[in-house]
Amino acid sequence: MLRIIIFFLVIGLIITGILIYPLLNKQRRNRLKRRPFPPLWNAIIENNLPIYLRLSAAERRQLHGHIQVFLAEKQFIGCKGLQVTEEMKVTVAAVACLLLFNERGEYFSKLRSILIYPSTYVVTETVASGDYIVEERRVARLGESWSRDQLVLSWEQVQQDIGNWSDGHNVVLHEFAHQLDQEDGKAEGVPILPRKSDYPVWAQVMAEEYQLLCHDVQQGVKTVMDSYGATNPAEFFAVATETFFEKPQQLLNQHSTLYKLLQRYYQVDPVQWV
Ligand SMILES: [Zn+2]
Repeated sequence: MLRIIIFFLVIGLIITGILIYPLLNKQRRNRLKRRPFPPLWNAIIENNLPIYLRLSAAERRQLHGHIQVFLAEKQFIGCKGLQVTEEMKVTVAAVACLLLFNERGEYFSKLRSILIYPSTYVVTETVASGDYIVEERRVARLGESWSRDQLVLSWEQVQQDIGNWSDGHNVVLHEFAHQLDQEDGKAEGVPILPRKSDYPVWAQVMAEEYQLLCHDVQQGVKTVMDSYGATNPAEFFAVATETFFEKPQQLLNQHSTLYKLLQRYYQVDPVQWV
């Protein structure tokens, strides 16, 4: 009898925990968002995020709130002797949080830590070069997003990308877009969308635009998006995100359907920030 009571008590506690946790989490995040935004952070963003001063006052407030939550929840780890500074953390958070204006209530849910290398880092990659032959090769990387719980960045690359905001290349936007894509456990270029009915529209627009980019790249046609987007649908979504935020006017002029799809998803209109 006692065992049965304990069993139901434990089940009851688990169910209460499952129901209460999201509520407590939301309250905790709301408290973080209401914290005064440190003037030093503001100065860092003004200096390092070229579009920051073009955001509306409401957008800036929203971004501040997201940065507070992001910095409270994510761990930064310096690699190869790098000392992670306030500037590095706030800069990465500010760029990453541009992807959170749609208020889904998720903060890159799979991600726990961000590893920062001073510059380009080298990893050993294992590749199958034929039946039963596996080769190891050393590859230089600028950044990567692991579906486990880590994301890797090169600080040198981050600085270079924020210094050239309108060139369509941004390793932070790219890797964090992969995080959104991988939130459902699959890296296939489809993030979690608000409604079930959004998926067929997303699939159609993305497939058409991806095919178009692949065709243009094969034909050697100059494209507004980087040709790396033609690698696979997951890279296409990451590169399209970089282009949407950094070259919005060109993307809108040349691929308005894609622009509008991303505008609906990210709930921002970067053309207004140009
Ligand atoms: Zn990528």
